[in-house]
Amino acid sequence: MKVKFNAGLVVLLASTCFAAKFPAGYTLCKQGDDKCLLDQIGATFTKHSQGIPEMNLVGLDPLKIEKMDIVQGGDGPINIVLNFKNVDLTGLSQSTVKKANGFTANPTKMEMAVLVPVASLVGGYKINGKVLILPIQGEGKSNMTMENCHIQLKWTGKLVEKTGKQFYQLDKLKATFDTTRFHMHFSNLFNGDKALGDNMNQFLNDNWQDILKELKPSIVTAFAQIFQRVVTNVFDKVPYAELYHTSSLLESPASSSSAEPSQETLVEDFFICRSCGHDVSLSNFVLEKYSPLALGSSNQTLSAGREAIVQEVQNTLGIRFKIIVVEKAYCAKVESWSLLHSWFPGFAWKLCVCPKCRTHLGWMFEPLETATSDRYFPTEKGFYALISSNIISEGYVNSLLMREKALRDN
Ligand SMILES: [Zn+2]
Repeated sequence: MKVKFNAGLVVLLASTCFAAKFPAGYTLCKQGDDKCLLDQIGATFTKHSQGIPEMNLVGLDPLKIEKMDIVQGGDGPINIVLNFKNVDLTGLSQSTVKKANGFTANPTKMEMAVLVPVASLVGGYKINGKVLILPIQGEGKSNMTMENCHIQLKWTGKLVEKTGKQFYQLDKLKATFDTTRFHMHFSNLFNGDKALGDNMNQFLNDNWQDILKELKPSIVTAFAQIFQRVVTNVFDKVPYAELYHTSSLLESPASSSSAEPSQETLVEDFFICRSCGHDVSLSNFVLEKYSPLALGSSNQTLSAGREAIVQEVQNTLGIRFKIIVVEKAYCAKVESWSLLHSWFPGFAWKLCVCPKCRTHLGWMFEPLETATSDRYFPTEKGFYALISSNIISEGYVNSLLMREKALRDN
């Protein structure tokens, strides 16, 4: 019976709760906050180089490339067909993100620049053709390495609506790069003739600048296709707005008149409405604020390790509630403050109801002197008290998922 309940709950939450898309500790930025985005994208390369399945982001180091072709035809000094198969591009986890532009509310052009100290492409190859008048032919393992590789990606696109949500649809991606040194090594050239192969490798490396100049357009085209796929995967999976900090939480009317919240917040855990899964608050916002009228209090450990004080309060009808006090929460707009029977003397209160399903989630509190009728939400001097049994932490939901999986596996 219990298993059934869990499964139902999980299905409901999975369809409404966006928060599950990001790994724990993943920093989200506000739209247009280029400085934060630089750090966030940088961390995506460095800390999450193994990939983020929730976002459909493949592993970036190594970036596994099944197939890639560099075809250079025409009358130029280089005329080759170079096929790569099952190659790994390594080094992206050491990237420094130099530029990230255009990540705005209504994105059209976006741009990113990264510096990779050492980027290597290692794996199977097959080559046929002519390099600076010399014939070249072979099949085996190759290594192409670039030092101080500056990669620039620019793409265009627009927001499109799919299943009621806005997704960024990438139209065209352009790539360019520069490097201070290009090394190449092809094993098993000329059917394993070592003398011929060694000579050719030597020759290629001695003339790397000319070779790179000739091959650059084809290399750029090949990599642009690969990066386009990587980026498109993410944009196709995650609604555009959800790649950013929950603006509803951090830019709620509650905070618009007061000091700006910090530029970035490490999201620890989400509180969501138990009835409908709508976002309510973050565990980051838990406050240590005691009501002198509380009947008792206890500590509750949230999934991210943070402690929350749960206080028991009683209303004039004798109904008891267990509450958690938070700095900010997302509540529907309701009228007028009440000055009567406040659990926090000096503060007026009004109800906090879920903006989506109208479930009673708790109360908003505001100092008496600023609790004016034209103020819908608390200022930074105010706070929120959430009824612990009407919200649920996302970490807890994840633990249910784990339990469900454990039950299924048994
Ligand atoms: Zn709700």
